[in-house]
Amino acid sequence: MLYDYLTSHLNISQEVAIFMERIENSLAAEFKKADQIAEYNQAKVLAAMQACRLSDTHFNDSTGYGYNDEGREALEEIFAKIFKAEAALVRPQLISGTHALAAALFGNLRPGDTLLSPVGSPYDTLESVIGIRPTSGSLKEYGVNYAQVELTADGNFDLPAIKAALQTQPKMVTIQRSKGYSWRRSFTVAEIKSLIQCIRTESPRTIIMVDNCYGEFVETSEPIEAGADIIAGSFIKNPGGGIVPGGGYVAGRAELVERAAERLTAPGLGSAVGPSLGMTRTLTQGIFLAPQTVSSCIKGAVLAAETFNRLGFDVLPSATATRTDIVQAVKLGQPQHVLAFCHGIQKAAPVDSYVKPEAAPMPGYGDGVVMAGGTFIQGSSIELSADAPMRPPYIVYFQGGLTAAHSKAGVVFALDELVKAGLVSL
Ligand SMILES: *Cc1c(COP(=O)(O)O)cnc(C)c1O
Repeated sequence: MLYDYLTSHLNISQEVAIFMERIENSLAAEFKKADQIAEYNQAKVLAAMQACRLSDTHFNDSTGYGYNDEGREALEEIFAKIFKAEAALVRPQLISGTHALAAALFGNLRPGDTLLSPVGSPYDTLESVIGIRPTSGSLKEYGVNYAQVELTADGNFDLPAIKAALQTQPKMVTIQRSKGYSWRRSFTVAEIKSLIQCIRTESPRTIIMVDNCYGEFVETSEPIEAGADIIAGSFIKNPGGGIVPGGGYVAGRAELVERAAERLTAPGLGSAVGPSLGMTRTLTQGIFLAPQTVSSCIKGAVLAAETFNRLGFDVLPSATATRTDIVQAVKLGQPQHVLAFCHGIQKAAPVDSYVKPEAAPMPGYGDGVVMAGGTFIQGSSIELSADAPMRPPYIVYFQGGLTAAHSKAGVVFALDELVKAGLVSL
């Protein structure tokens, strides 16, 4: 039915529709898996709200300092329960995932400390935060050292090298769950658990942070259950459920979360201040909807994986792999393919569908990035979107979709654009 409408009303070619409908029909088992995970996580979120006795009165607003904001406190308790953390910071004042991660890092690191990434280079924007790319105000400028252990050639943890690096007993380790903008596997919660066990054995006092961006609710457990001390993420990704207009969270051991709060607000103020500014209801609704929204994204990602794999492109992960984030990478190999894919995603958008995205410099990113996403919320990548740093081997990172139908339609539009440009033949 979706395909009928796309061909008759939205200018998708018949051959693309037939090709994709056949692929979709072969993926029923994968879609069912996504539904089952969403149902489990929905129950988990519901249980947390009930246990915290969430009430209508919690949606009242606070202003100014935001002292004694009961809604904010209830929501933070709900987040802590969902993620099995002692405490959580759930704030519209955290601008993004990068800001939440930066608050956790700056809050917990001191001059002379070392931060170690045992999983290769971190997400592009973290390079500026850490100071890998010289940046004013970076951790490096404050005298925090950084060390990195590359992944093995096949994308796994290099345990001997990680053990060697841990002999210096670094203050903090950062593990990125999602592939971000790099061609590597995303790490499942089980894999993160095995890495954390290794870190604990070699360096028991090291604070272990997991960058949970794009990972929330893709599996039935989360990194704190795997032994992480602190996690962070963004509300314009998974845990905002697609409706939260901005913000971020940090969750984990209470003392570590409080240090992140002191960095976000000010020493001595910490988590005790922070007006909710009318956001509490939307934030709460967002986390309630998130399991379902995430499953919609997974369906589009699975469809993209199978479609482009059948067309001979390398995809990561494959359609049947265990997923731990909503990102689907497709190695398209040529800049014109990347642009056509992104033009297709843009044409599938509810907002700004008539514009043509081009590569442009982005704050915090090294290379030019082309970003397609006609989203209701600026930059939201839980909504249908595709991003590609314009560098060889020209990989596009596809994610999002507020509904499964829209996420799937995005893949159809992307393929249709490639076919119409003569870059792919079916
Ligand atoms: C998106 C992302 C970030 C940064 O989040 P923003 O909200 O864009 O600042 C950090 N790490 C990973 C793995 C991400 O996917």
